[in-house]
Amino acid sequence: MRLDIGIDDTDSAKGGCTTYIATLLVEKFLRIGARFADYPNIVRLNPNIPYKTRGNAAVALRLQVPESIYEELREATLRTIEKNSQIGEQGTDPAVILLRNKPTPQITKLSQEALISIVSIRKTVRTLRAAKGSAVSYGSGLGLVGALAAVGQTLEGDHTYELIAYRSRRNLGKPRLVDKDSVILMDQTTSPNTFNSYDAEHKRVLITPHGPDPVLLGLRGETPEAVRSAFRLILVREPIDRWVIFRTNHGTEAHFRSAQSRPSINRPVSLRGIVHERPQRIPGGHVFLKLLTGRRVVECAAFEPTGKFKEIVAKLIPGDEVTVFGGVRTHEVNHRPSVTVNLEKIIVNHLIDDIVVRNPQCPECGKRMKSAGRGQGFQCPRCTYVSRKVSKQFLRNDRVIRPGLYVPDRKAHRHLTKPLSRYGMEKGRWDGKPPMGTWHSP
Ligand SMILES: [Zn+2]
Repeated sequence: MRLDIGIDDTDSAKGGCTTYIATLLVEKFLRIGARFADYPNIVRLNPNIPYKTRGNAAVALRLQVPESIYEELREATLRTIEKNSQIGEQGTDPAVILLRNKPTPQITKLSQEALISIVSIRKTVRTLRAAKGSAVSYGSGLGLVGALAAVGQTLEGDHTYELIAYRSRRNLGKPRLVDKDSVILMDQTTSPNTFNSYDAEHKRVLITPHGPDPVLLGLRGETPEAVRSAFRLILVREPIDRWVIFRTNHGTEAHFRSAQSRPSINRPVSLRGIVHERPQRIPGGHVFLKLLTGRRVVECAAFEPTGKFKEIVAKLIPGDEVTVFGGVRTHEVNHRPSVTVNLEKIIVNHLIDDIVVRNPQCPECGKRMKSAGRGQGFQCPRCTYVSRKVSKQFLRNDRVIRPGLYVPDRKAHRHLTKPLSRYGMEKGRWDGKPPMGTWHSP
């Protein structure tokens, strides 16, 4: 029989890792005699949920097993979660879903909703019961939503792979001994079949996380073979406990596939509109943009860590036409709730000419003149030359950006962000490669 197991929310801010539990389960299941119907899946859900701060990941294990070992698999799953998750920690509400048979269309639908909105526990339980699935939850029940959504997210369309290697227990909390030069070489050799490994611009290794969790490194790529051969190129100077290849929705911007075109709190949105005012830079380096869409003005924000991306946004002028993608969040401005689209991507559709109107230069001394009064022409403030013949000048400023697609710097990428190198490499249905945006040096 087919058996799908979804797991969510086993980790806390203090450590632990749902993918690690999945890895332990892979080994246990194989020992018990299960066959896998797919690579273990990591599914990222709506990144804009306020109480989910660690990337909102859940896992699904899809098995083909004889009925006779079901109880043994169930026992192994629960025992492993109880032993390895942070049960009792604030905000950790582990949950497991066990579903015999393939996910029903209702589960698939719930899973799509969980990518873009907030799904209630009540609805999750109802959907699960209708599918005759069973669940075990250790806390508030919040983990049930992600666990069922993971089961339903079967990654039929675009997907990627991640090889995750784990550290031995005694090294937890110590610096990760992964050779930087080998990462650079691996990136050069295997890109674009691997992605988000090294940020050449900021000279940062991206495959190693920080913090106490058991992940040593994660290699992202297009195929299982790509991540496997990339892994062979990495020089690691500490013991590797175990590793496993996951199939994921990382780098697929799955959350934008059904993004709405009206801003709604905590949901992804995509909006086409006209730049309404000159973008404003606020203390901290963030850039705010007011966009006119239909009859409403929507505030968008490009935050400081987005790097060059926020500079692109800052170079827009009123009248430019853009399409923005991002998550809708609220924050307090002068004690009032304000809605902002946190920008994750922008397509510059059309740039208008940047015309500035200036007073004429003095024909005598070259100084810029001032109006001498209505209908009185211009007067030079330096040599007092007055003329009615000179007139205002219209100057065209060079635009330093070009139409095209822009995404934040890699260090500001979220798990679902599609890196530029993946455009054109999507699996399944795809609607064409958009032109890449470029800086243009004046
Ligand atoms: Zn003059």
